Amino acid sequence: MTDVRVRFAPSPTGALHIGGAHTALFNWLWAKKHGGRFVLRIEDTDRERSTQAYEDTIYAGLRWLGLDWDEGPDCGGPYGPYRQSERLELYMECAEDLVSRGLAYRDGAAIIFKIPQGETISFEDAVYGAISVKSETLKDQVLMKSDGTPTYNYAVVIDDHHMAINWVIRGEDHIANTPKQILFYKAFGWELPRFAHLPMILGKDKKKLSKRHGATSVHEYKDMGYLPEAVFNFLALLGWSPGGDKEIFTREEATRLFEISRVVKRAAIFDMDKLNYVNQEHIKMMDPKSLVDAVLPFWKKLGLPVEQFDRSYLEQAVSLLEGRGRTLVEIAEFTDYFFDFNSVAKRYDGKESADKAESLRPFFRALLAIEPWEAPQMENFARQWCDEKGMKLKDVAMPLRLVLTGRKVSPGIFEVAQLLGRDEVKKRLSHYNLI
Ligand code: GLU
Repeated sequence: MTDVRVRFAPSPTGALHIGGAHTALFNWLWAKKHGGRFVLRIEDTDRERSTQAYEDTIYAGLRWLGLDWDEGPDCGGPYGPYRQSERLELYMECAEDLVSRGLAYRDGAAIIFKIPQGETISFEDAVYGAISVKSETLKDQVLMKSDGTPTYNYAVVIDDHHMAINWVIRGEDHIANTPKQILFYKAFGWELPRFAHLPMILGKDKKKLSKRHGATSVHEYKDMGYLPEAVFNFLALLGWSPGGDKEIFTREEATRLFEISRVVKRAAIFDMDKLNYVNQEHIKMMDPKSLVDAVLPFWKKLGLPVEQFDRSYLEQAVSLLEGRGRTLVEIAEFTDYFFDFNSVAKRYDGKESADKAESLRPFFRALLAIEPWEAPQMENFARQWCDEKGMKLKDVAMPLRLVLTGRKVSPGIFEVAQLLGRDEVKKRLSHYNLI
């Protein structure tokens, strides 16, 4: 069997969006599964709207998702060039060949393909099944515009053939283009690739995914604290599933399990709750060291002085969350009180404990004298104290939680106290006049 050669062919007229990343990912999976090649081609014939900056964000987005490409800009390779703007001569040569064989004609400086009459164009889409179109329904197709640039449908065929692409995997919005492209292949006498069109991605309201539904660019998800592994996993689930109830998987597992025949035609719904769930599951799979690496930029964005703490402190802080937090942003926020008191003071004004201060002070004073300064000792002591005074543990634990974290929900408060250290706990209690 010939090696699988697939391509992702974005136009650099915008950042890498969810739909593009989804297409790239399915191509990548198919290539990796077969030990084939994943080619990146930049479709930049729209010179006005294409920019280097967009091209760079596409590279960055693909790399962030782990979708490395085997050929294309930025990595060399036996074929190429990989930008359509650098291939104009080839498009012109091939179009002139069709003119010389009477299959296309000139109209001024433009070259136009003559649609043959009475033909039925059929193909078997690997996802959508058998599709046929009568050639009468198609109009003659411009190949080369009068400005010397090719049209999309034409250039894509020239490129896919010359780059030996044998699987064309792309969004279902291109199904209607495929019969035209097939006519071009036939006119040149070139072998057809296999086609697989991927289902559309819709928002929860069943409308085409757009800005109205939230972030649409891959880099926005990075900034919102989603892990690349999780976005990868989530995108793979849009229109495909490995079967059974398996929903959480690594790139390697996805590569092994991926089957194009399991891609469904039904439009896929982009569901943020699902993304949050998948992200949280991937966060839970990380060891504290990698989690700290991932959370660091988000702590810094919050202006927290994390560099003043050693790695082990940071790792203990994230470990205490025990899987709470759906995004890296939430993890950074949920642990902010470990790094400075400002975040606590901003959230909690001390009112809730003010009228209970009289009864709390003796407890907190005694707590501060505990040896060793460890959570189990603190908790035993607190339980005993509450038993004796006819109080409940939460009567002391909640005020302590508010003072140390400024939150009503936190990890075990004695674990928090242990990590913060005796001096810091004392400072916070004294700020609220509780010792
Ligand atoms: N540049 C086209 C697009 O972004 C490529 C479509 C194709 O894969 O043929 O939609």
